[in-house]
Amino acid sequence: MKALFDKDVIGLNIILIGPPGAGKGTQASLIANKYDIPFVSSGDLFRDHRKLGTELGLLAEKYMNSGQLVPDQVTINMVMDWLAKNNGNNSGFLLDGFPRTVDQATALEKALGDKNSVGPSIYINVDQDQLIIRLTGRRVCMDCQLSFHIHSNPPIHEGKCDKCSATLTQREDDNFDAVRARLDAYKHNTEPLVDYYFKKNVLIEINGNKTIDQVSLDIIESLDRLNVN
Ligand SMILES: [Zn+2]
Repeated sequence: MKALFDKDVIGLNIILIGPPGAGKGTQASLIANKYDIPFVSSGDLFRDHRKLGTELGLLAEKYMNSGQLVPDQVTINMVMDWLAKNNGNNSGFLLDGFPRTVDQATALEKALGDKNSVGPSIYINVDQDQLIIRLTGRRVCMDCQLSFHIHSNPPIHEGKCDKCSATLTQREDDNFDAVRARLDAYKHNTEPLVDYYFKKNVLIEINGNKTIDQVSLDIIESLDRLNVN
């Protein structure tokens, strides 16, 4: 099998795709540590730019405050700025939550140019029922921000934080209707990327219904296999 990438030559330019609740953030940091590559989530990029009050951050804020979507070009500029600072020697990177649409994916490719193509794209596929259970089961302590899950990580005393005993609450984002809306938005806007990267022959599909540890083992095994000529 011909290697899809060679870390020493073109870098390991990983895109992580998956629905809300797939555990992308956790897997992103595990993969990035394992391969010693920088990683960032689109959420972190926005937060950092807004916190630092950069031109891009202020621009993004202007759109958000008026209830508009941040234009792709603003996000692309944030990503390119991050890559310039973190991927100067083209040794690879991992993007979590970006691109979010096929339009963003094509814009990213254009911005990266031929030398630095995207690949592989890891798609963490999780059944919808499983996602609903995961997302609606989250409970958060509003005092210390510790988070729990009614099935997979329940507090010792029901409804109370283990650390500070405050009452646990469900974020508005995690109620059933909000979760359905988030999953629908993902399906409509982001899922087409799966087909997009499949056609480019850079897609790795991972069964994300397993445990966090098993999913990360599967991802690493798939990546290691690609690197064997
Ligand atoms: Zn607490």
